[in-house]
Amino acid sequence: MKFQLNSPRKFYFALLLSAITIYACDKEDSVCEGTTWYQDLDEDGFGNPAISLDSCIQPAGYVQDNTDDDDTIPYIVHEVNPSLFLTDAGNVSISTVSCTLSDGTETQCYQITSTHTPTDHQMGPWCPETITDGPEAGGLWTDNGEVYDVDGPFIANLATFYDDANWKMYEDDGTVRRFLTQEQCERGADPNIEDEFMQMCAQCLPEHVDIGGTYLIPIRPVRQSTATQLGDGPTIDQPGVEYGPLVRGIAFNGVRFDHPADINIILSGYQIAPVDDAGGHINNRLGYHYHGDQGESTRIEQADGHAAMIGYAMDGHALYAQLDANGNEPTDLDPCNGHYDELRGYHYHVMPLGNNELLECYYGAWVE
Ligand SMILES: [Zn+2]
Ligand SMILES: [Zn+2]
Repeated sequence: MKFQLNSPRKFYFALLLSAITIYACDKEDSVCEGTTWYQDLDEDGFGNPAISLDSCIQPAGYVQDNTDDDDTIPYIVHEVNPSLFLTDAGNVSISTVSCTLSDGTETQCYQITSTHTPTDHQMGPWCPETITDGPEAGGLWTDNGEVYDVDGPFIANLATFYDDANWKMYEDDGTVRRFLTQEQCERGADPNIEDEFMQMCAQCLPEHVDIGGTYLIPIRPVRQSTATQLGDGPTIDQPGVEYGPLVRGIAFNGVRFDHPADINIILSGYQIAPVDDAGGHINNRLGYHYHGDQGESTRIEQADGHAAMIGYAMDGHALYAQLDANGNEPTDLDPCNGHYDELRGYHYHVMPLGNNELLECYYGAWVE
C-alpha cells in the first residue's frame, strides 16, 4: 500500500533507471556501482523504505520505489459497482461494453444511459418571481467562493452586490425578469447575448428541455503516472492545451457532475444562472446537471464516518462528498482532490459548490 500521489511516476522512472543500470553492468562489470532496491512484499510495485539491498541487477521481490508505508497490504483497485445507480424508474440504464481508454488500454466499460432526470429529489426552483419572495422561491448563486440564496431581495440588490448601477433584473412592479418560455431557454443563454435577454435571471424549466446522454466509465480504474487537467469548456480552455473530459462524473441518479459555469460570460450579459438547492440547473445543451454536491442526491453513507459516496468520476474512481460525518475535509488530498484508503481504494472528494469546480484533474484513464 502507498499514499504518495506521484509514486506510480517514480515507479516507472525506477523501471527505466533499472534498465539503464542493467545495461551498464553488462557493458562494464568492473565499474558497476549498484543500485538500492527496496523490498516489495505485497507486490504492488511500491517498496518498503526500511528494507533495502544494493545490487547491479534487480533482486527478486525488490523494486526501486521506496514509498510504501505499509508493505503488507497491496494497493487495492476497486471496481465500479453498477448496482449503486438508481435504475428502477428507467431514468438510468447500464450495460457492459468493450472500450478503449485514453492511455490505450483495451478494457470493459459500463455504458450508462441517463435521461438526466433525478428520481431522488425535485428540480428547481431557480429564479424567484418577485423581489419580495423568500429563499424557498429561488435557488443559489455563487460569487468569490461564497454561496448566496437567490431570493427576491438578492435580485433587488444586484447593483449593490456587483457595485455596478446598471444592474436591474426586475420590472417596476417588482416582477423578476426571468426566462419562462422554451424560446428564452434556447436563445437567452448564449456567449453572444442579445439585448432582449440582458438583465434576466437565466433558467430553463424541465418542461422545456429533454436531453439525455450516454457515458462510458471503465469498470476497473487504470491509474496513470501523471494527472490530466480536466476541460472547463470552450470559452475557458486555452487553445492548444490537451484536456480530459468536460463532465466530472455521474451521480447515482444519472445526473452529470459538470465543468464550471462560465460565470464571467453570464455576468457580462447582466444575467445570473442560479442552481437549485441540489446544486443543479438545466440548459438546452446538457439538460439538468450539477455544479456542486449539496447533499440532495442519493449518497452511500460510510460506517467509519468517512464522507458519503455520491457517484463515480469518468475515470472509474469513486466520488465522495467534501466533508465527513463530523464536517471535516480530509487533510491528505492530492492535487486532484484524491487519496487512498484500503476500504475505498483511490477516490476523489468533490470541492464545494462555491468553488464552481468539482474536480480539476484525474489520475485515471477515461474514455475519450
Ligand atoms: Zn450549468
Ligand atoms: Zn476519502
